Amino acid sequence: MSFEVFPPRIDAPFEPVKEAVERLARQRPSFMSVTYGASGNAQANTAAIASFVQSCGVTALAHLTCLSATRESIAAEVESLKAAGIKNVLCLRGDMPKDADAPSGAFLHAVDLVRTLRESTSFCLGGACYPECHPECAHMEDDILHLREKVDAGLDFVTTQMFFDNNIFYRYLSKLRDRGVTVPVIAGIMPVTNGKQISRICKLSGTYLPSRFKAIVDRYGDRPSAMLDAGVVYATEQIVDLFANGINAVHIYTMNRPEVAERIMANLRGIIED
Ligand code: FAD
Repeated sequence: MSFEVFPPRIDAPFEPVKEAVERLARQRPSFMSVTYGASGNAQANTAAIASFVQSCGVTALAHLTCLSATRESIAAEVESLKAAGIKNVLCLRGDMPKDADAPSGAFLHAVDLVRTLRESTSFCLGGACYPECHPECAHMEDDILHLREKVDAGLDFVTTQMFFDNNIFYRYLSKLRDRGVTVPVIAGIMPVTNGKQISRICKLSGTYLPSRFKAIVDRYGDRPSAMLDAGVVYATEQIVDLFANGINAVHIYTMNRPEVAERIMANLRGIIED
């Protein structure tokens, strides 16, 4: 089990994020990942929070995006990660800016970052993959070919985009194996605790909302404590099913909410300790 946190914005205090990390660390995850520049959060704080994760006794995985980076800025980021004692990096492209011209820099795809880091560092490298196809790619087969290229460039593992229907993940995993993608695939699970956000996120990412799940959001989306209960139960059920089907690496998009991870981990205690 691994968790994800995001760093504070540049002008926001570190303390609440550190408190969340400390509580999450008590659950003894295999690692904790720290996002980079996602949702307007400061890139500069990723290395600092990743370093704090490690000071809590948990291995950190620092995310790094490259779309608007230069060779120099990536080299500088690598140096600050090394200085912070980070050895694991999730290589990402980052989202296309909405109203800018098509990017034309040194790193157009995540594979460009993977090649650079594989050549210049001994980091353990991960990448992202998409059980329901990346929204910019017209065909799943092409998306898998691009993933294969990324893995061949030097990825050690991949983590999936969130999914709410495990059958979609199982079919995808089997396709990856058929197409020669043999690295470990970590299943990304998003516990939904905010009904309003999820429809928008799913629209953007193309994630399928099963009717069983949609009914939960329709019914409890406006009641935060009911949605928290239902979201924790739904995520727990997904994880139990993944474990039962032999998947042994699950990443929870905990979003700096330790109470969510604590409740899911409590539900899984007997299974994990068995
Ligand atoms: P890529 O692997 O480059 O793929 C992007 C698109 O380009 C795909 O459609 C792919 O099929 C296509 N493509 C790839 N290679 C080629 C090629 N050679 N020729 C033509 N097309 C190609 N974003 C953040 O800003 N910060 C984060 O911390 C962050 N963390 C994430 C963690 C996970 C686990 C995931 C799944 C996503 C995360 N994201 C994050 C979002 C991510 O940046 C976006 O999904 C982005 O749109 C794609 O990133 P990628 O690394 O998958 O890109």
